[in-house]
Amino acid sequence: MSPPRIAVIGAGLAGLSCARALQARGAVIRLFDKGRAAGGRLATRRAEAAGLPLQFDHGAQYLTARSEGFAALLRECGAAPWGGPGRLVGTPGMSALPRRLAAGLDLVAARHVTAIEGAPGAWVVRHLDATTVRPGRPLPPGVPAREGPFDAVALALPPEQAAPLVAPHAPSWPARLAAVRLAPCWTVMAAFAAPLPLPDSLRPEEDGAIGWAARDSSKPGRPAGAECWVVQGGPDWSRAHLEDTPEQVIPALLAALGARAGRDLPAPIHAAAHRWRYSLVEAPLGQPCLHDPALRLGLAGDWCLAGRAESAFESGTALAAAMAQPHADRAA
Ligand SMILES: Cc1cc2nc3c(=O)[nH]c(=O)nc-3n(C[C@H](O)[C@H](O)[C@H](O)COP(=O)(O)OP(=O)(O)OC[C@H]3O[C@@H](n4cnc5c(N)ncnc54)[C@H](O)[C@@H]3O)c2cc1C
Repeated sequence: MSPPRIAVIGAGLAGLSCARALQARGAVIRLFDKGRAAGGRLATRRAEAAGLPLQFDHGAQYLTARSEGFAALLRECGAAPWGGPGRLVGTPGMSALPRRLAAGLDLVAARHVTAIEGAPGAWVVRHLDATTVRPGRPLPPGVPAREGPFDAVALALPPEQAAPLVAPHAPSWPARLAAVRLAPCWTVMAAFAAPLPLPDSLRPEEDGAIGWAARDSSKPGRPAGAECWVVQGGPDWSRAHLEDTPEQVIPALLAALGARAGRDLPAPIHAAAHRWRYSLVEAPLGQPCLHDPALRLGLAGDWCLAGRAESAFESGTALAAAMAQPHADRAA
């Protein structure tokens, strides 16, 4: 019997964990992501200013492992301690972790999946050049590329992005996905010519704008020279300012950082902002994954369990185990 061909859509930690586990069980995997590389919210942005290389982990800040399985994966990927007991970061950047996990997987990057067509056992994935797709706008004209057939499809995407893809096939799932809630997070990446008078990380203060801030350049293996900071708006602040522009968000969050330092900050040598519409999970699904063995479709992501990277790993691994079962069981 030939091995099952499985499409995994989304190459964040959940999709990577799912793809690796299925491949280890003998499946032939094709992994799709709209990003230029694997990683999703495990992300690192690079820039240059005043002749200095700059680097910012603008998504997840540090990872912790409760289970031995996730601890072993982080060790395998070369994660290093930073910022307190049990906290680990990717080196030379957070994005190094998913890049290492993606090695040996058949990853189709920079492709935005627009539809899943066909039927169980013969699914077809439709996808477009991701650079042509604008969030919240209609899809560009043209016929998306067609790939398949696949025996099964695993979707490891935030719920709002997964819902339209599964709705035609699993009509009961969108309502379950609608009950899941992820908070937005505005993130400012700023570099300064000299050290700021602040500790390496800051927690939120009551009613403050900042949800978390860290001297990213204090993490191991980062480029020497500039003082690089990541400043995240808290969930309430980010929600209230969701439609603001980077030009509004950058001075607001840097002023909040200055207030924590007790003085006006010097002008940054570099400043940029990234809006995460989906960052940390506020209301999870409450089960490790969604899987319909008759449809041979499944959903995974941190949002199934909790807002931490380990939950994405657990969810992806759980979906792979469910998909590897003989497919006579009832839907989960
Ligand atoms: C600002 C921020 C701070 C965080 N801090 C921490 C922290 O300190 N510690 C911690 O443990 N966790 C933290 N997290 C959470 C952690 O990053 C996530 O739990 C984890 O990375 C989620 O992985 P995932 O695979 O479930 O989802 P994602 O990483 O979101 O992966 C989904 C993937 O799907 C792709 N995709 C979406 N739609 C499509 C489509 N139509 N076609 C193709 N591809 C598509 C995306 O490009 C993405 O790569 C943070 C997250 C954010 C945003």
